[in-house]
Amino acid sequence: MTETEAQRQKEIQQAEELLFAGPQAVGFAKGLFLGHFVSDWVMPYPRIPAAQQIEADKSLAEVRQFLDEKLDPSAIDRQADIPREVIDGLGRFGVLGMTAPKEFGGRGFSQMANCKILEEIGRRCASTSVFVNAHHSIGIRALLLFGSHAQKQTWLPRLVTGEQLAAFALTEEQAGSDAANVQMQARPSEDGSHYILNGEKRYITNAAIAQVLTVMARTPVPGSNKTAISAFLVTPDMPGFTILEPRMPKLGIRGTATGRFAMRDVRVPKENILGPLGKGLRVALTVLDFGRTTFGACCTGAAKTCLQLAIRHANTRRQFNKTLGEFDLVRKKIARIAADAYAMEAMTTVTASLIDRGLEDYMIETAMLKVFTTELLWEAINDTFQIYGGSAYFTDLPLERMLRDARINQIGEGSNEVLTSFIGLVGMRGPGMEFKEIYDTMLKPLGGRIGKAWTAGMNRLGAAIRIPDVPVQSDELRSFASQLGRIIWRFNLAVNRALIAYREPILDMQLVQERIADAATELFASSCVLSRWDAEVQASRRNGSTPSEHSAAELFLRQSFRRARRLLGDLNDNEDRAVLGTANSVLSRAGNDD
Ligand SMILES: Cc1cc2nc3c(=O)[nH]c(=O)nc-3n(C[C@H](O)[C@H](O)[C@H](O)COP(=O)(O)OP(=O)(O)OC[C@H]3O[C@@H](n4cnc5c(N)ncnc54)[C@H](O)[C@@H]3O)c2cc1C
Repeated sequence: MTETEAQRQKEIQQAEELLFAGPQAVGFAKGLFLGHFVSDWVMPYPRIPAAQQIEADKSLAEVRQFLDEKLDPSAIDRQADIPREVIDGLGRFGVLGMTAPKEFGGRGFSQMANCKILEEIGRRCASTSVFVNAHHSIGIRALLLFGSHAQKQTWLPRLVTGEQLAAFALTEEQAGSDAANVQMQARPSEDGSHYILNGEKRYITNAAIAQVLTVMARTPVPGSNKTAISAFLVTPDMPGFTILEPRMPKLGIRGTATGRFAMRDVRVPKENILGPLGKGLRVALTVLDFGRTTFGACCTGAAKTCLQLAIRHANTRRQFNKTLGEFDLVRKKIARIAADAYAMEAMTTVTASLIDRGLEDYMIETAMLKVFTTELLWEAINDTFQIYGGSAYFTDLPLERMLRDARINQIGEGSNEVLTSFIGLVGMRGPGMEFKEIYDTMLKPLGGRIGKAWTAGMNRLGAAIRIPDVPVQSDELRSFASQLGRIIWRFNLAVNRALIAYREPILDMQLVQERIADAATELFASSCVLSRWDAEVQASRRNGSTPSEHSAAELFLRQSFRRARRLLGDLNDNEDRAVLGTANSVLSRAGNDD
């Protein structure tokens, strides 16, 4: 077996262990890949339960007032620090423990309600939203999800109030996107009471201001010479813990403290292990799933700010004796921001509700949400920047800060490229399983069963595949529902074809994976938008009011359907060979810049 093949086998084994723990309900995204519209997960449009809505509204109003009075995003950026007064206030209003159970001092909010709060923060200040996410969405998440009752009792009460702050430390020099490559070592002490940690972590938000850090390190696998990742609760007062750099100077989200630290023979009690020994990678990926949901909420908030700013400027700035809003090229940008912001909110709400409703595996949906909202926010800021012209460039307006702040979103918590490939590959695993023979070939590249795989695939393709029903309540939306159903059907056909045409090499064909992942993401986004629009039409009908205008929803669906069709068409008609050939040619010219 060559080194590459051995690496591939290792990756597949890791992925299998991590992602496919056992039989689970088919989620929405996995359903799409099988040509189904699993309506229960997206329709009717999810709502926060009435009893919690009152509390959530009250909380939102309090937080909003606090942010209006105390949060100064521009000063936070200039001073590269979030004032303690702001952190204390966030703690006081429950923001730092929103989803923690009430018995440990948290608010016990659902993920949907929590997302509404994060959207509000995201509207104003990206530094503050990243700080809150680092503490609450990922910092205390492993404790919330995997901690024992005793661990929660010991650690949570001070964390949920903000008296103590948390960080989540996975990244190292050799473990960035390749999270499984963590090098920090944790070896058991002779008496087995402690683990002794050695290594360094970098790019860790809150590292220097946290009193509790969830740290990923490699532990020996008993009875073998292998190691696996485990999650540890570490406090900076443990001897041997050293902050190497508390605040690495950086482009954006400058208010956050992104740091580096070292652990030199740090003795961590074995009681501080979170979740099962050796299952730290699973812990980490589950934690990041939550982070990606609130990422979506923060991006939605920021996109709404872009819309407000763009409208304000387009209505007031005059050139050529007209307001900017009278020019179609400006109007086009504003319309798209409105449509995208509507979709971002819908997708965030639906994804958060999947968590609240107990869907076990929502990794594809959270990955889609993260990629979708971060890319659209980047475009929204760029378009708003353009509408403001030269004035956007200066620091008296928030746009240059928003542009700098937003750039991390496409990189952090799983870079968008890694997640796109993940969406494509994990999604295709479903139909791949149906083509059992093909799946075997994918797992065993040396199997040489191509002929059988082909036959199995052709049989599957020939099977009666129905256009799925998309059950909307409102008559006026039926044509959109039926278009969506048809594209899902086309998508499933395209996925099956790709699996048959490319077979095992598809595992490395990222340009194909990207088109499939992006098309699936459009379908998920469209489903969320249709569901939201349907619910709003129905609500206004129930209230006897005229349905409010929904041009943003309609525009999004039209544009999203077009993009999805184009992506599917491009699977058969593209310049991939030329793209890869050019890349090969320039990459091999190492050291020769000409
Ligand atoms: C401001 C900031 C805050 C952070 N906070 C935290 C934190 O709190 N905790 C924590 O653990 N980490 C944190 N990180 C680290 C962050 O999660 C990593 O930067 C991220 O995972 C990417 O890793 P990397 O920087 O090593 O990039 P690399 O892994 O070197 O990747 C660089 C680029 O290569 C491409 N790439 C990599 N792999 C693939 C692939 N398989 N397919 C296609 N393209 C690929 C992508 O375009 C990627 O952006 C933070 C980073 C920053 C900048």
